[in-house]
Amino acid sequence: MDESLQRRVAANEAMFRGVNEAIERGVWHGDESSVAAFRCECARLDCNQLVPLTPREYEAIRAHPRRFLLLPGHDNPEVESVVVTHEAYVVVEKRDEAGRLADASDPRS
Ligand SMILES: [Zn+2]
Repeated sequence: MDESLQRRVAANEAMFRGVNEAIERGVWHGDESSVAAFRCECARLDCNQLVPLTPREYEAIRAHPRRFLLLPGHDNPEVESVVVTHEAYVVVEKRDEAGRLADASDPRS
């Protein structure tokens, strides 16, 4: 993947991560074990699908700045590795340049 595309993809993913942070804040009040709908954080510019999981599960993913929440099959093996496989979602970890961009765009760092 060329560098400008990689940057565009990273910006897109960072935006969805920001959306999910807001979703998480909205449901966090003592209700972290009931299922909410988070945005798929994949690189597809036309993906607007929702992933059902609890804020507690999302929090476990977001504890790692290089990890993103995706629907199964939405991962891009070129830049990321699947580290958790769940029935409804997978968690990927960014490698190399994509990992550095993910670190840099982490709203919590
Ligand atoms: Zn997706």
